[in-house]
Amino acid sequence: MIFQTLATYGHEEVVFCHNADAGLKAIIAIHNSVLGPALGGLRMWPYASEQEALNDVLRLSRGMTYKNAVAGLNLGGGKAVIWGDPSKDKSEALFRAFGRFVNSLGGRYITAEDVGIDVNDMEYVFRETDYVTGVHQVHGGSGDPSPFTAYGALQGLMAALQVKFGHEEVGKHTYAVQGAGHVGMHFIKLLREQGAKVYVTDINQKLVDQAVSEYGAEAVPLDHIYETDADVYSPCALGGTVNEATLPRLKCKIICGAANNQLANDAIGDEVEKRGILYAPDYAVNAGGVMNVSLEIDGYNRERAMRMMRTIYYNLGKIFQIAKRDGIPTYKAADRMAEERIDLIGRVKLPNMGQPRFLGRMRHG
Ligand code: NAD
Repeated sequence: MIFQTLATYGHEEVVFCHNADAGLKAIIAIHNSVLGPALGGLRMWPYASEQEALNDVLRLSRGMTYKNAVAGLNLGGGKAVIWGDPSKDKSEALFRAFGRFVNSLGGRYITAEDVGIDVNDMEYVFRETDYVTGVHQVHGGSGDPSPFTAYGALQGLMAALQVKFGHEEVGKHTYAVQGAGHVGMHFIKLLREQGAKVYVTDINQKLVDQAVSEYGAEAVPLDHIYETDADVYSPCALGGTVNEATLPRLKCKIICGAANNQLANDAIGDEVEKRGILYAPDYAVNAGGVMNVSLEIDGYNRERAMRMMRTIYYNLGKIFQIAKRDGIPTYKAADRMAEERIDLIGRVKLPNMGQPRFLGRMRHG
């Protein structure tokens, strides 16, 4: 049964990690390592069953293969999950035990933070292995990725404006931003710096107030965000917000934001296309976070990070070209771009190109 699932999604390796003393039950999934070591975050979640944990890690690791490939990184896709409640099951022993399992893979999988995990947990993982990104800045880590993700999303937005309106002048347009959290607030700031009109909503009223008072955004009620008369709908909160119920209400011409899994399903992606709305694929737009941590592998440098974020503009441009070339919706074009790159680079790559180096903080002995 498991091998059948692995064959369906094309996974290479799945490791079940167990340490009774530490209370660790974790799964590490390496989906594809053709482009390089598999990089993807560690999620801690109180799954209802081990099957649910397995499904999640398989789905998320596959997603990382596509994200890393489109981002132009020399990295494959992987992910890990710890089956547990982050509010009560965390301990030094748990994360050190997990770190040992990561280390045992010799760099084939590199971990990072994801839902339920913070930089302090990564500190424990880092005691056991070098194959971890998102460690604290004092160890040569990259710190909070959100400003980079927001800046990367702005590059993606400019590529979308270019295709839809024939220019990249962010300030000439209106934006409906859903979610003024870590990424959303930075994104609003960047939009306002360009002189754009920004509408904002968030379930957290304090964040809405901050966006209004600090950046001059205009608040709209939670559910009104979909029918706000804005050129761009920018989901920066949860996934699945473009769905059967919301799509008919959208007045935008572009969907471009930082949230993961914005389209409820593929049929919605097709419908978005039919309605003439340009969808900027989420995982290409929000790749700034993974780009940022990936730089820890050979020595983090902020300037290189900012330079890398700008490549998101070109990545989006390529996706839109593929969509036009093949007559397919943009969400499919992103997947095609990833598959073409894995296929081509997989054939030309030298055998040792994928070894992680961690030049900034290699340990000896
Ligand atoms: P966050 O938790 O800081 O912000 C999310 C915000 O959305 C919160 O302020 C929350 O109150 C708000 N929200 C939740 N439900 C809402 C609703 N129904 N309507 C309106 N607002 C709602 O998270 P973040 O780090 O800013 O990430 C935002 C999104 O971007 C997530 O989907 C995340 O997976 C994705 N993402 C983030 C990064 C990053 O660098 N942080 C990188 C890639 C992708």
